[in-house]
Amino acid sequence: MTVRLSSPLQQDSIVDGEGIRMVVWMQGCIHNCPGCHNKKTHSLKGGFEKDLEELKQEIKNVKNHDGITLTGGDPLLQVEQSLEIASFSKKLGLNVWCYTGFTYEQLIAMSRSNPLILELLESIDILIDGKFVIDEKSADLLFRGSANQRVINVKESLKKNRVVLVKKYIKRKGSNKPFLKEKHLFL
Ligand code: SF4
Repeated sequence: MTVRLSSPLQQDSIVDGEGIRMVVWMQGCIHNCPGCHNKKTHSLKGGFEKDLEELKQEIKNVKNHDGITLTGGDPLLQVEQSLEIASFSKKLGLNVWCYTGFTYEQLIAMSRSNPLILELLESIDILIDGKFVIDEKSADLLFRGSANQRVINVKESLKKNRVVLVKKYIKRKGSNKPFLKEKHLFL
């Protein structure tokens, strides 16, 4: 199986989730958010194809990292590949974060016709969901570009059948006060 990427595996990042992480930049996005900072990842035929087993070997060769982040582009558009990467990474002891332009609620609805989406969610620790909304943009947010996006504890959300946010990431950078508008809690 191949996966379509926009960039080679990024081996070190401290901004795409907590800790020291690898980042998989998936190619392809359909959300067209105005102000998107990564337009080169949109084309479903752009980027390059990579053998998934080769990518897994590269991931395995990187030592002493906390986790791996799937981003792009939208990793949910290559759900089979994302599931393979996420479940492989979990077996290596890495925590898995994933960014998507879909909301958690949309993914749950989509999983009724595509059970792989639920399997993928079950392999993800943290999901940052929703489109980037330029009017909600703030540089003070932790791990998200706009205030409508949510940093979701996926395991707890699946267990409780509702969105459970990661409290420590709701606050603004350098502040202990929560920063999330009530209207964004449940979309
Ligand atoms: S979901 Fe992300 S990559 Fe896709 S258009 Fe929106 S900001 Fe850009």
